[in-house]
Amino acid sequence: MPSQPTLTIDRTAIADNWRLLAAASGSAATGAAIKADGYGLGAREVFDTLWKAGARDFFVAHWSEAAALGPLPEGARLAVLHGAGADDMDAALALGPKVVPVLSTPAQVVRWKQTGRPADVMLDTGFNRLGLGPGDIGVLEGLEVATLHSHLACADEPLHPLNALQLERFRAMALPVPAARLALANSAGIGLGADWHFGLTRPGIGLYGGGPSAERSRLRAVVGLAATVLQMRKLQPGDTVGYGADFVAARPMRLAVVALGYADGFRRALAPGAACMTADGVRCALVGRISMDLMTFDASAASLAEGDRVAVEFDLAGHAAASGVSQYELLVGLGHRYARCYR
Ligand SMILES: *Cc1c(COP(=O)(O)O)cnc(C)c1O
Repeated sequence: MPSQPTLTIDRTAIADNWRLLAAASGSAATGAAIKADGYGLGAREVFDTLWKAGARDFFVAHWSEAAALGPLPEGARLAVLHGAGADDMDAALALGPKVVPVLSTPAQVVRWKQTGRPADVMLDTGFNRLGLGPGDIGVLEGLEVATLHSHLACADEPLHPLNALQLERFRAMALPVPAARLALANSAGIGLGADWHFGLTRPGIGLYGGGPSAERSRLRAVVGLAATVLQMRKLQPGDTVGYGADFVAARPMRLAVVALGYADGFRRALAPGAACMTADGVRCALVGRISMDLMTFDASAASLAEGDRVAVEFDLAGHAAASGVSQYELLVGLGHRYARCYR
């Protein structure tokens, strides 16, 4: 493998994170959001890993994502969060009863009732994104509701008043609906406490090692990155590095030019010093601007040579804070140039 970067995905860490979130979910079943190709890490691999760990409820956004997963084992349930639009019906019916829509509009409910099949339903309790409102509940008459959902807008801010308000509205709206199960909490929602757990929780980001700090402290990192040193350079004081000549060497330095860039998910907004690589156990800080295919590191303290492979840190929380880009966007933005390696 020449200079292609590698993205190593630690399946044991994903399974451990799921078990931790499942334990924190108390008596509720614990599902897994694997939309956007498992937050960029491979929906099929995450599905297989968590199925073995004991997860039975999975979530994607699009029917194409459901179809791409292929046949599901007996006992698996896959819910499609974007519901059943007119153009989705053929795909939805072809996928069989293990895959259900999460219906979110009256038109979708009316359309799906004609199939005679059960479905999940999303209620809007203050997010104002997808979901039936309080005035729409009557349309559910005659539909077999498997899981009745709502989604929290501010679960990552535990003290935000909308958390309690959404809980109260969800209870009130769910009361007349004969649903087999209720579900409200995403990863951060699990941390709000037992009142938010109901019968099923829907973690996503936590499985992949991200989320607000309280949860994250106990979660394991899932992603490891490695790339090749293409060139080593010696800099003299006053030499500049990269586009815009932003970095100016204050002293003699050794610079490692590494085959990884913003096309591989390293946002240019990461300031020098906010990203690091490790070579020989020595941490080397990013210097200069990140370009599309290359990054430059201060390797003065490491013994490195052209052609060496180096571990480049992918610190979800740190990079999110330093770049102003959410942990979610960083994960799904890792790009398609990596050789993926599951272990
Ligand atoms: C994406 C998503 C989740 C998972 O959210 P995380 O914050 O990643 O845990 C849960 N529920 C719904 C409806 C979602 O769209």
